[in-house]
Amino acid sequence: MSCIFCELIASADPPRLVYEDEAVVVFPDIRPQAPTHLLVVPRRHVATIVEAAETDPELVTAMTRAVADVTRRLGVEAPGFRLVVNTGDDGGQTVGHLHMHLLAGRRMTWPPG
Ligand code: 5GP
Ligand code: ZN
Repeated sequence: MSCIFCELIASADPPRLVYEDEAVVVFPDIRPQAPTHLLVVPRRHVATIVEAAETDPELVTAMTRAVADVTRRLGVEAPGFRLVVNTGDDGGQTVGHLHMHLLAGRRMTWPPG
């Protein structure tokens, strides 16, 4: 099974990492939808947030720790930011490897599209 995020993480020429620990990496989205648009990605292949919650809840905790670290460091915790986890076809998930979108640097609108 080929997975673009597994390939990126294992690549000899990986994306610039904004954060990394043993379980999670954070790197910029290739098609940014906000001044700051990062992807919070587990190193291990897990398809969805539901699968992660059921098989490895620690992984979800590790992802939120990465969010806390990055938002503090980039100074977007106080002005605010948005976390998005698109899941499945109706959710608009196009990459089948769990990831959180971390969007910041502009005023977000609601409802989402
Ligand atoms: P989804 O649509 O699954 O919620 O989000 C997938 C995201 O991955 C999209 O925002 C897309 O721009 C991003 N993406 C797809 N391929 C690559 C890539 O090769 N590198 C990076 N950095 N982002 C990618
Ligand atoms: Zn993968």
